[in-house]
Amino acid sequence: MKFIKNLFYLLLSISILTSCGSSENEDNMDPTTLPSTDDNDDDDTTSGDGDGSATTVIPDVYKKIYGATDMYIDGDMIVIEMEGIPDHNSPYYENTSWASERYEAYNSQDFRKNPNVIASVDRTVRMPLNPEEASNHQETQLGTMGIALNGVAFYNQYAGPNNQALTDEIFSFDQYNGHPQNVGVYHYHLEPTYLTSQDTVGRDGLLGFLLDGFPVYGPMENGSAVSNNDLDDYHGHSHVTSDYPDGIYHYHITSEDPYINGNGYYGTPGTSTE
Ligand SMILES: [Zn+2]
Ligand SMILES: [Zn+2]
Repeated sequence: MKFIKNLFYLLLSISILTSCGSSENEDNMDPTTLPSTDDNDDDDTTSGDGDGSATTVIPDVYKKIYGATDMYIDGDMIVIEMEGIPDHNSPYYENTSWASERYEAYNSQDFRKNPNVIASVDRTVRMPLNPEEASNHQETQLGTMGIALNGVAFYNQYAGPNNQALTDEIFSFDQYNGHPQNVGVYHYHLEPTYLTSQDTVGRDGLLGFLLDGFPVYGPMENGSAVSNNDLDDYHGHSHVTSDYPDGIYHYHITSEDPYINGNGYYGTPGTSTE
């Protein structure tokens, strides 16, 4: 009798697990439909859409953002949600009870660990679906100015207010060029080497987007390193890429300052809320 009861609970929990898994996958991965009515975000989408009949297909390029926990289109914006934690090891996972298996020491002589610990964030990023050059180019703010494919934030070339240089902060970057700020938000100011070392991405691949909706590519192009001289004041230029056969303005991450962005956004930035 006890065995049958246990078997019943086992089967019950298996069926719960499977159904949760599949519905979660649908929410995350199905790019062809707007979120279903049980989704938290439906307030945003249904209020603007009236009868909700609009079905907007998410362009393939955004599916490369594998760190997204949800993604949908709201008018002329793409909305992407993420937890913002790195999917690679870091010394900054030390003493996190929820991800201690990702703790990995960094034994570089120059490394000076900062006192912060990685924290998960509820980040919602809204970016223009069809970005255009802005007539006045806004400066990038401190904090999240863009996102990498793994959902980690891109920060600009400054360590703090009044354009403080990264000179000292660079020593606190871990083995993948990231570190958490004072409330634990993990971010990259430089090339995200975990991504660029993946065969599926490479050093010439798409690495993410800035909030103005323009894509960010790696430090190599057509077999040679991109330098600041190849780029404009905003740290980008326009041409065809494998993701945009019609050509697009895009930023490049270079090995020299200002690394990701130069003197502000090329387009009009959307928002990132955490
Ligand atoms: Zn930083
Ligand atoms: Zn390029």
